[in-house]
Amino acid sequence: MKAITVKPKTKNSVRLQEIEKPEISDIKDGRGVLVEVLRVGACGTDREINDGEYGVAPKGFDFLVLGHENFGRVAEIGEKVKEFAVGDYVVASVRRPGHSFYDKIGEQDFTTDSKYYERGISRLHGFMAEFYAENADYLVKIPPAIKEIAVLLEPLSIIEKGLKQASDIQERLKIWRPKTAAVLGVGSVGLLTAMDLRLRGYEVHGFGKDTSDDYLNAKLLEEIGVTYDSTLEISIADSTEKYGEYDLIFECTGYSPIIFDAMQSLNENGVLILASVTGGERKTDQVPSDKINQKFVLGNRVMFGTVNANREHFEMGIKDLALCEAMYQGWLSKMLTHKIEGLENYEKAFDILNDSAEYKAIKVYFEVKSD
Ligand SMILES: [Zn+2]
Repeated sequence: MKAITVKPKTKNSVRLQEIEKPEISDIKDGRGVLVEVLRVGACGTDREINDGEYGVAPKGFDFLVLGHENFGRVAEIGEKVKEFAVGDYVVASVRRPGHSFYDKIGEQDFTTDSKYYERGISRLHGFMAEFYAENADYLVKIPPAIKEIAVLLEPLSIIEKGLKQASDIQERLKIWRPKTAAVLGVGSVGLLTAMDLRLRGYEVHGFGKDTSDDYLNAKLLEEIGVTYDSTLEISIADSTEKYGEYDLIFECTGYSPIIFDAMQSLNENGVLILASVTGGERKTDQVPSDKINQKFVLGNRVMFGTVNANREHFEMGIKDLALCEAMYQGWLSKMLTHKIEGLENYEKAFDILNDSAEYKAIKVYFEVKSD
């Protein structure tokens, strides 16, 4: 079968390759599910792996099948699989258990291991292929009503985890009634975050760099009642004069110096969620450390980091995709800006990923097989 692969840590090694089709017997205890891939999302992570920044091939292979944002249909099930039937739509989670205590209790998204097992990223093949085999434990069932947008579930699951952690942490307050939120970064993750916060009743303010009037991302925000400002025109800290301090801030820009600005923009008892993976060497010395420390201490403020997602966050995401369709019908489909027909057109997908601003791309995805 066809698959899109890279040679990890080798710049621009992406290619189409013929590999062996997996079988349900690859999965032990009769719990195997063979899934025919319908759609796979492509994102900055795939671009960075193809840039040679990270990525690890599975043991015994010198290549890695890319792809973690997936959507497919069950083609075959093992004898001990009762929760799925052939023809069901499914999405697979990404990280698999390693060896730490958290991995052993099914909370591998909180692993303390330094080696990760993540499909399409580290030590496990991904979903940019015609089929994959997986243990039924790592699949969630997708209602047919949301199949058109289900490829957004994996990125949404990251946000669901972030917001769940925030509400868990805020249980320290007997009552927390957040009203306003800022979302820093309005790419596909930022848009999904703004949407998720609107579903939860927040007044939401989005911030990005783009200043153009003709900015699709800003238009999409406006459609769901979210303001948009460019940080080239107003800093996050200065924006509080306009909007007030924020009860919750979700950071997903990939530009780490902005977090110090965000730390100064939180309301009392507020929570700042950091979700950008910044693998570079950037440093900043413009940090008013006394002021930030004082605000955090006297205002009981919180900042935490979040990565990956667990089964429950995928399940929360399914409900929010359905709720979003009910509240803002058709809005999520507008995020799916660039469809690539067939895995063989991978070069086009990477051209877009490498220059997403030029292409005005929000979400690039492969239609591996039409439904
Ligand atoms: Zn991704």
